Amino acid sequence: MNDSSAYRRKHRVGRELACDCCRKIFPFCWRCRCGFKICQACMYENVWGMSCNGITWECPDCGGQNGFGNQ
Ligand SMILES: [Zn+2]
Ligand SMILES: [Zn+2]
Repeated sequence: MNDSSAYRRKHRVGRELACDCCRKIFPFCWRCRCGFKICQACMYENVWGMSCNGITWECPDCGGQNGFGNQ
């Protein structure tokens, strides 16, 4: 087991993604082909307005359909 938390704090933003909704940085965001990114928390809060079936979500930027778990 490696405790890498202290080490990781030194690293600048690299592969992390900035949520287009709350502007915070996350290691994972749902992404649309147009470049729109939304974090797990924002997706959870807005899923009622972005997904009608729980299988796909609609991008508020371009209206494109994106599948959950298909990143
Ligand atoms: Zn967010
Ligand atoms: Zn889009």
